[in-house]
Amino acid sequence: IRRGGGGASSVVVSAARRLPVGVRKPPLRVVVTGGAGFVGSHLVDELLARGDSVIVVDNFFTGRKENVARHLADPRFELIRHDVVEPILLEVDQIYHLACPASPVHYKFNPIKTIISFPLQTLLHIFYKTNVMGTLNMLGLAKRVGARFLLTSTSEVYGDPLEHPQKESYWGHVNPIGVRSCYDEGKRTAETLTMDYHRGAGVEVRIARIFNTYGPRMCLDDGRVVSNFVAQTLRKQPMTVYGDGKQTRSFQFVSDLVDGLIILMESEHIGPFNLGNPGEFTMLELAQVVKETIDPSARVEFKPNTADDPHMRKPDISKAKSLLHWEPKISLKQGLPRMVSDFQKRIMDEK
Ligand code: NAD
Ligand code: UDP
Ligand code: UDP
Repeated sequence: IRRGGGGASSVVVSAARRLPVGVRKPPLRVVVTGGAGFVGSHLVDELLARGDSVIVVDNFFTGRKENVARHLADPRFELIRHDVVEPILLEVDQIYHLACPASPVHYKFNPIKTIISFPLQTLLHIFYKTNVMGTLNMLGLAKRVGARFLLTSTSEVYGDPLEHPQKESYWGHVNPIGVRSCYDEGKRTAETLTMDYHRGAGVEVRIARIFNTYGPRMCLDDGRVVSNFVAQTLRKQPMTVYGDGKQTRSFQFVSDLVDGLIILMESEHIGPFNLGNPGEFTMLELAQVVKETIDPSARVEFKPNTADDPHMRKPDISKAKSLLHWEPKISLKQGLPRMVSDFQKRIMDEK
């Protein structure tokens, strides 16, 4: 039985969490901040499919109402336009805290479309505020109602890593005053707050460190490499490779991530856990896979790289494998075609 004013159903829920794996538990009341975004909307699909009631809290900064539009008529679904920087009162059992704009570094180099009309300084400010004040508010909410809280942190907490592949025990190599620091340090602070609320206030917390993830509903123009390469190739533009293209990343398909997030939330483990696909690719190798998947005549063009770009990144997922019994199932070659039709349709709709 839990602390706080979570109401009768939260008592049922904590009992349900002790059921053996695979046994169906009663529906939960779940809030997903950032639930109108790329990862959030796929998570919402899964939670509703298993019978939970879901409240999405999103300010539509980088997310889109269309991502959750199919659920608007569902009585178990609610969409609240709200900025998590402001306090909010809700009665829930679980909080998946995803709200966070994509890295502002991208906006600097991709001055296309709406959100980008903000001056960079404003963006950095919004970014840091969301990670710090938004996370604080959601932890305050979790404390008040006795809800379990899951933070979606990032592999960026490892910075430009000196250890490869990265284990959760690695403390990272982050430039505190660099152009991408507001993202790295914002998430590091969010992790610190999460652990402080756990140790100091007894909040049940979970921390996922997510590695580069791709799939349908990714923002078309937020500048991430997979969405850029796919959109560029579909638009018959050259793929923009930054630097020499030899830097590496490991790409995870979104459904694998959503499985990992739910398994982590339901588990008895706090983490942090790396959630990523260990398959490692240089940006030139990624361009080659995109070319083979979409258009054999696709070309690349080289552009200067951004400062502080990590040279390599690959998760060590042995901790998630052994404690959560989770590992990704979908390779890049299998996953990429699954996002192409979604991108094709959205690019057609732009015309
Ligand atoms: P996304 O931009 O598609 O989704 C973020 C959502 O948060 C959007 O719907 C946005 O409108 C919302 N949001 C932003 N600021 C908000 C605020 N102040 N109040 C309320 N809502 C706000 O990005 P995503 O890829 O779906 O990322 C989801 C989470 O996963 C983020 O926390 C991100 O840092 C983390 N993550 C993602 C990746 C990845 O490769 N996709 C990698 C590492 C970590
Ligand atoms: N908070 C919230 N919803 C709640 C409870 C708290 O948004 O249901 C916010 C609250 O406004 C505060 C933050 O969470 O800004 C941290 O709350 P906590 O109670 O931990 O700290 P305090 O209010 O004492 O600073
Ligand atoms: N990148 C690239 N071309 C692009 C966008 C990104 O070569 O059009 C590179 C970028 O320099 C980085 C890698 O791809 O080395 C991954 O970038 P992304 O922004 O997707 O993720 P992150 O840097 O946060 O891992």
